[in-house]
Amino acid sequence: MTDHYQLLVIGGGSGGLAHAQRAAEYGVKAAAIEAGRLGGTCVNVGCVPKKVMWYAANQTHQMHHAADYGFDVERKGFDWTTLKRNRDAYVKRLNGIYENNLDKRGVDYISGWASFIDANTVEVGDRRITADNIVIATGGRPMVPDIPGAEYGITSDDFFELDEQPKRVLIAGSGYISVEIGGVFNALGSETHIVVRKDGIVRSFDRMLGEELMQAMRQSGVSIDTGVIPSRVEKTDEGLVVTAEDGRTFGPVDCVLWAIGRSPNVEGLNLEAAGVETDDNGFIPVDKYQMTNVPHIAALGDVTGAVALTPVAIAAGRRLADRLYNGMEGRHLEYHTIATVIFSHPPMGTVGLTEEEARVEYRNDIKVYQSSFIGMYYALGQDKERTVMKLITAGPEEKIVGCHIIGDGADEMMQGFAVAIRMGATKNDFDDTVAIHPTSAEELVTMR
Ligand SMILES: Cc1cc2nc3c(=O)[nH]c(=O)nc-3n(C[C@H](O)[C@H](O)[C@H](O)COP(=O)(O)OP(=O)(O)OC[C@H]3O[C@@H](n4cnc5c(N)ncnc54)[C@H](O)[C@@H]3O)c2cc1C
Repeated sequence: MTDHYQLLVIGGGSGGLAHAQRAAEYGVKAAAIEAGRLGGTCVNVGCVPKKVMWYAANQTHQMHHAADYGFDVERKGFDWTTLKRNRDAYVKRLNGIYENNLDKRGVDYISGWASFIDANTVEVGDRRITADNIVIATGGRPMVPDIPGAEYGITSDDFFELDEQPKRVLIAGSGYISVEIGGVFNALGSETHIVVRKDGIVRSFDRMLGEELMQAMRQSGVSIDTGVIPSRVEKTDEGLVVTAEDGRTFGPVDCVLWAIGRSPNVEGLNLEAAGVETDDNGFIPVDKYQMTNVPHIAALGDVTGAVALTPVAIAAGRRLADRLYNGMEGRHLEYHTIATVIFSHPPMGTVGLTEEEARVEYRNDIKVYQSSFIGMYYALGQDKERTVMKLITAGPEEKIVGCHIIGDGADEMMQGFAVAIRMGATKNDFDDTVAIHPTSAEELVTMR
């Protein structure tokens, strides 16, 4: 294998692979270094296996309502091992597809841990590789609190390794990973507790989403305790017990899962040798073109502290290749109006500004439209799950600047609305669009 490349990408995850492949399509001699499994977080311990678990959890939801529709369904059991085996096999197939894709495009795949020797040289095992351009796309990893007994807990990475379903689970953390995994455990039958430091969950999204989700999760049996700062974990004969700073205790449970945030993968990279700067939290700051403080070294994806989403890392990687190797001067990713979905139960979709952000940005010159209803799916039974939608418009032309949905189908609804909102749609454009009936989505074009 060559030891000099035009482009060397460190990290074979969403962003790194997207960049290397796009560059190779433009004729660049490129290599990608990956220390773990190809595909990175998303494929191995993130979006993909998580979504499989979400689908599994949804099966129980459907079974629960089957009787309302006349089916005589008896749930005899659930086998975690079968689900894990099938899920792992799917992920393994994807790892193979990723390797083939590199091969097809002529990108060299180097397996091992990369560490800088200088600004143009990287060491992997006993190999030294030089490159004209280097892209750091090393992603992030789950944080574990620095408290006694923290090692008894697991992280989201370990969640995907669990061979058995824990009967009782406590998840510490309020972000989307916490509520998604909590939703899965609960639906699949584990007794599920979530403890959060502040007063709510998914607090970085519009407040309405967090409040509605908290209510829905509690109704479905998840216990959520607020204002809890874990201070130690103890192993007792009955299970793990978490004690909070204020003296409250939680447990015993069979599994404690830390979902308290993620830190960038920069340790061991020896960034100092290349002169690449990091911020106080270890993230690599970049300009709008993804360039670090070193002119031929770029960084992208989670390691930059950008919105930590797969399509964001991919889009940044592709745009960087377009600019550097295909003459598309000025091409870069705009980080606003990025839609995202939280695969909770029920799911949530969000794009644009929260109501609080819009009030600040448009100095209160906004209008808020909100609709709350029970979807037709629940019409036949006793179980009623609410859908809530919120549209935020700004200025006299009522440009839509925020759209937030919680309820069945929110996950698949959001993408199309994100296109319209990115194009600058106004409330009038929404009102002028003929509804699709009967759907939940039609509420978004009929709100008054
Ligand atoms: C539980 C969970 C669920 C998620 N769900 C979603 C979702 O539903 N939708 C979504 O869009 N996003 C989701 N994400 C986020 C998404 O996975 C990340 O934003 C995305 O993977 C970031 O891509 P990246 O290229 O920056 O880094 P990564 O995909 O993390 O890839 C970085 C790679 O670099 C490798 N590496 C690190 N250091 C070195 C080194 N020194 N040498 C060689 N290799 C190295 C790592 O092994 C890793 O494979 C989820 C994340 C988690 C944890």
